[in-house]
Amino acid sequence: MARDVHVIDHPLVQHKLSLLRRKETSTSEFRALVAEIGMLLGYEVTRDLPTQATVVQTPLARMSASVLDGKKIVLVAILRAGTGILDGMLRILPSARVGHIGIYRDHATLEAVEYYARVPKIMHDRDAIVMDPMVATGNSAVAAVNRLKETGPRSIKFVCLVSCPEGLRHFHSRHPDVPVYTAAVDSHLDDHGYIVPGLGDAGDRLFGTR
Ligand code: URA
Repeated sequence: MARDVHVIDHPLVQHKLSLLRRKETSTSEFRALVAEIGMLLGYEVTRDLPTQATVVQTPLARMSASVLDGKKIVLVAILRAGTGILDGMLRILPSARVGHIGIYRDHATLEAVEYYARVPKIMHDRDAIVMDPMVATGNSAVAAVNRLKETGPRSIKFVCLVSCPEGLRHFHSRHPDVPVYTAAVDSHLDDHGYIVPGLGDAGDRLFGTR
C-alpha cells in the first residue's frame, strides 16, 4: 500500500524552501521563511476541513455562504523547532488550541528523549496537527505521535518542511494511519542523522544558537 505522504509542490512553498536551504540565509530571514511556509502548509493540511452553509447578508443581497463546520483543531509543536512552523499556522488558525511536546535527540544514539508534554485536557473531539521541521530518522516524530495517541485525539496529521525516505519509512512503520505533509522528500540521511541536502540544523538556524 502506498504510504500516505503529501508532497506540497506549490511554487510559493518551493521558492521559500529554496531560500531557507541556502547557508547564507540569516536567522531573521530563516525564521520569517519557516513561518511563511508553515502558513502555506497549514493551508494545504486543512484542505479537507468540512464546511457548512450559513446565510450571509452582503451589502447587496442575502446569500448562502460556507463557514467552517466547527471542527476543533489542536496544533502540536514538537519543541523546539516546531514552534517556528506553529507561528505561521496560527496566522490562519488563530483560535486553534496549542500543545507542546518536548523531545531532544540524543546525539550519540539518535534516539528521541521526551522531556515535556502538555496538550489540552480534552482531546477526544479534537483533530491534531503535529509539526516539526525535519523528519530525519523519524524517531522524534514517532515518539511525539506515540505520546499524542495516549491522549486520544480524533485524528492526527503530521506536517514537516523536509523529510527523507528513511524517516518516512520508519514513521509509517509505526504510524501508518498518520498522513505526512512535507514540502520535500530529500535524498538520504547521513551518518550523523542529518538530512542531505536538507537545510542543516533547523533549531539552531531558527534560534541562532550555533
Ligand atoms: N534535524 C535537523 O534539524 N536537521 C536535520 O537534517 C536532521 C534533523
